Amino acid sequence: MTLFPEMFSAADNSILGRAMEKNIISIDAVNIRDYTLDKHKKVDDYTYGGGAGMLMQAQPIYDCHKAVCNSIGSEKKVRTIYVTPQGKLFDQNMAKELSNEEDLIFLCGHYEGVDERVLEEIATDYISIGDYVLTGGELPAMVMIDCISRLVPGVLSNEESAQTESFDDGLLEYPQYTRPEVWMDKKVPDVLLSGHHANIEKWRHEQSLERTKQRRPDLYEIYAHKI
Ligand code: SAM
Repeated sequence: MTLFPEMFSAADNSILGRAMEKNIISIDAVNIRDYTLDKHKKVDDYTYGGGAGMLMQAQPIYDCHKAVCNSIGSEKKVRTIYVTPQGKLFDQNMAKELSNEEDLIFLCGHYEGVDERVLEEIATDYISIGDYVLTGGELPAMVMIDCISRLVPGVLSNEESAQTESFDDGLLEYPQYTRPEVWMDKKVPDVLLSGHHANIEKWRHEQSLERTKQRRPDLYEIYAHKI
């Protein structure tokens, strides 16, 4: 649910585009403005109590949500995520959990945000992509949609589906190399050319540990406490 559905055309490309062609996932960007009862198609107004900026009004969002729920036709209440900097921080575990849902609705705010009363009525989750403020919820929603979609079985081909990825085991992924063997006088580590699987696994695990320790000491602390 958005005021700028055209921003979701980014999903038509590459892996998500292919998954949509194969009907493994579908993404519908629904224009909230189509549901306003205002004769000038207005969807926002000034905030009570003063302050700069416009706020998205409750009515168009509520009616849009009702129409989307009806078109989904699900028996149970569909998870409705308000993407907001005031939400829980999005991460890989959250993406895994959300990828089990049959349907998800994302509400994208714009301007100063959304009238609180409609959020109380329709939002089941409040999720943020980071502690910074963007102009609208479309990019955050796309970030989440991309991340969740690639965890849906069949979206990634076997070649793309990495079995070990950053965050899978609480560590960052090890460094990786492809052809040529030597580039700018830099040689691919010998162990990766050895064909010795046990040694390769050992090297990769050590590299993962080292990389996480250096770049994300916060994650390393959590990992070290678990083992
Ligand atoms: N006034 C709001 C506040 O202080 O929390 C910020 C509004 S922001 C300019 C407009 C919209 O962008 C929000 O309603 C939300 O949908 C989206 N947005 C901005 N930053 C975001 C973030 N870090 N994560 C998720 N959504 C975000």
